[in-house]
Amino acid sequence: MSIDKMGMEGFMYDPQIFLEDMLADARNIFPDIYAVLVKPEEMIFEERSAMNCFYCGKYNRNWKCPPNLPKIDYPKMFTEYEYGAFVYLKSPFADETYEDVRAQSSIRLHRTLLRMEKYLWEHGNAVAISFGAGSCKLCKGGCGKERCNNPYAARSPLEATGVNVIKSAGKYNISIKFPPKDFIVRLGLILW
Ligand code: SF4
Repeated sequence: MSIDKMGMEGFMYDPQIFLEDMLADARNIFPDIYAVLVKPEEMIFEERSAMNCFYCGKYNRNWKCPPNLPKIDYPKMFTEYEYGAFVYLKSPFADETYEDVRAQSSIRLHRTLLRMEKYLWEHGNAVAISFGAGSCKLCKGGCGKERCNNPYAARSPLEATGVNVIKSAGKYNISIKFPPKDFIVRLGLILW
C-alpha cells in the first residue's frame, strides 16, 4: 500500500491496512514480529506500575528509564494520538539461556519499533513515537556515563509511563505471564 492512501483527498484511511503494510515492512528484517491495532485511550495506567520502576535495578541508571522521563501527563499524551498498535514477539528460552534471550528479545523489539517509526515518518506521521519492553539496551557496554549515547534511537519502556502492560495487553487477548515459562513475550507500543 502506498502513501497515496494517507494523502489523497476523499480516500478512506484504514489503520488496519496501514498497520499490515507497516508490519510487512518490519518483517523484512524481523520476521517473528506481530502487531495488533489498539486504541491509545484504552491503555490502563496505574500508579503501582510506576512505583515498581522505583524498585528496578535500572531506576536512575538508564537514561530512558525513570526518573529520566519527561514529567508530562502520559494518559493525556496517549490520547493525543489517533492510532496505536501493540507490537510483540515471543522468544523461547531454556534456564541457561534466559538472560541472553531476555536481552536480545528486548533489543529486537526496540529495533522493530524504530523501523516502524521510520515507516510512519516516511508516510506523513511526524510525531509518531514508540515505547519498548524493558530498559533501553542499545549500547552493548551499558549506558553512557555522562549522557545517552544514542538520543535519537533510545526509547523508554512502556511500563515507565505508568501503563500496566499485562492488563492493557490482556484487553487485546495478548497473554503476558510472570514469571515467564518456556518463552518470553516482549511487547511494546507504537502511537501515531
Ligand atoms: S541508547 Fe545507550 S546510553 Fe542511551 S539509554 Fe539506551 S543503552 Fe542507555
